[in-house]
Amino acid sequence: MASPMDAQQSVTGAQIIAEALAAQDVKYMFGIVGIPVIEIAIAAQVAGIKYVGMRNEQAACYAASAVGYLTGRPAVCLVVSGPGLINALSGMANSNMNCWPLIVLGGSSDTNQETMGAFQEFPQVETCRLYSKFSARPSSLEAIPTVIEKAVRSSMYGRPGACYVDIPGDFVNRMVTRSDVRYTECCLPRPISLADPSEIYRAVTALKNAKQPLLIVGKGAAFSCAENSIRRLVYECGLPFLPTPMGKGVVPDNHPNCVAAARSSALQHADVILLLGARLNWILHFGLPPRFRPDVKIIQVDICAEELGNNVKPVANLLGDVNAVTQQLLEQLLNSSWKYPSNTEWWKTLTTKMRANEENAKVLASQTSVPMNYYTVFRHVKEALPENCIIVSEGANTMDIGRTVLQNFQPRHRLDAGTFGTMGVGLGFAIAAAMVVKDDSPDKRVVCVEGDSAFGFSGMEVETICRYNLPIIIIVVNNNGIYNGLDEDSWNEMLKSGDPASIAPPVSLKPNARYEQIMTAFGGKGYFVHTPGELQRALSSSFSEKHLPSLINVMIDPQSDRKKQEFHWLTRSNL
Ligand code: ADP
Repeated sequence: MASPMDAQQSVTGAQIIAEALAAQDVKYMFGIVGIPVIEIAIAAQVAGIKYVGMRNEQAACYAASAVGYLTGRPAVCLVVSGPGLINALSGMANSNMNCWPLIVLGGSSDTNQETMGAFQEFPQVETCRLYSKFSARPSSLEAIPTVIEKAVRSSMYGRPGACYVDIPGDFVNRMVTRSDVRYTECCLPRPISLADPSEIYRAVTALKNAKQPLLIVGKGAAFSCAENSIRRLVYECGLPFLPTPMGKGVVPDNHPNCVAAARSSALQHADVILLLGARLNWILHFGLPPRFRPDVKIIQVDICAEELGNNVKPVANLLGDVNAVTQQLLEQLLNSSWKYPSNTEWWKTLTTKMRANEENAKVLASQTSVPMNYYTVFRHVKEALPENCIIVSEGANTMDIGRTVLQNFQPRHRLDAGTFGTMGVGLGFAIAAAMVVKDDSPDKRVVCVEGDSAFGFSGMEVETICRYNLPIIIIVVNNNGIYNGLDEDSWNEMLKSGDPASIAPPVSLKPNARYEQIMTAFGGKGYFVHTPGELQRALSSSFSEKHLPSLINVMIDPQSDRKKQEFHWLTRSNL
């Protein structure tokens, strides 16, 4: 805020933007500069905001959104007009779908050239409306701080999401007197709301009468930092729990009440489900039969009133913050010393199923033949991972199988393709996570487990990783294709019969692609591995090289697949 002394100084639009963001406690900006936003990035650095220059706006926007999820406060994605902004839309959509706070700042064409066919002119505010909670252009330089405050506040309050602020090019270097600018203080932390006590009563009654209860922990619970209260609910009330992909780690995956290894059975037979910050969307099979009982009683906890009752009418509507509402539930349950017994038929069913599934996976993981299968690879990765690392994961089988094997012990330590199922998020997410851990817990590593196809979407961000020397280990699980591919001999044989554009399976990628060389090209460490022994050595060497990024390119059997699934919902392609 300006002191009386400098109130009469002139200040540029770029400075006003940067100072307004800093006043709202924005700490990170990711982007790609060009006309008309270069000065904004420079001013942000002067204002104490870290600026990370990326190679594609998509990845920059994914990165900024991940900071919002990891820290609870939005980061900024800074992009140029027209095509720059359009590239960033993927990140905005992804962030909004995931309910993560994000601010996108887009440069736009000069106000006095509007409708004239200006350079990269595009209806940016209107376009962003579909991808955000709030989309606006400040009416003047003086109004910039109030619009930025509103964007930051809107991104965090209620259901979090993306917000867009449009900055015409002629605003950036124009000057105004400081005293004319409507500076705004940092918005208050997001308000915490409690559920209606009568709904809490209904929820507690349903839980106490449950024969086969289940707690589902979603990424809304992770975002609300509900780990302490949810852990008490599990530990002290003895309830079985199932994390969603990014709900992993709110309660440690290795806790005996985690029934992830019996996921299908737990969902299919639970009679009362306490849904903590997770939507009944495709990830949870809409809460409908055959994946759920037709008479399942859902106790739904969500910050967004419109979400309550989507697809299934709940037995109790708990509108409020997951952490605060869980504390309300705990108070009622623990006051009456209620605990779900550990010797029920339900526990026996779940435990038997878990043991059987774990045995099946163990058999696959113990195979030592080359080329390796997914389970063998993940067994070695799991053994090498420190408990506190952040796992980023994407790909089809790589993400699905990896999720079942790799464990999370801390909340907000897993980032993946998420609600929108977006491929290409991995490197941006890893860069964001690495920036956050570099500042908050420098001993932590970020491990980015990618399918070879997923890696390809933003592989050039390896240069960004090396430029900032980020503590990231990328593991590319390489099966030469999307879902699966061809081995080198079959590929070469195929080439003899014609043009690959006419005959190559659309799922196939170049066999034995040397992705690790992208890392060595920029000064990081690269490993090309085929055998379990080579993989173990590459992992151990990568983790010991504390301050050097690395990429381990792991060749697996191009036809390796998941173990047989009871339901085909997410694996229904017959390719
Ligand atoms: P998952 O992918 O883990 O199943 P979803 O993204 O589908 O989770 O659902 C997260 C839900 O959490 C959203 O409906 C969102 O409104 C809700 N949510 C976000 N923050 C909070 C919060 N602080 N308290 C309660 N619910 C929240």
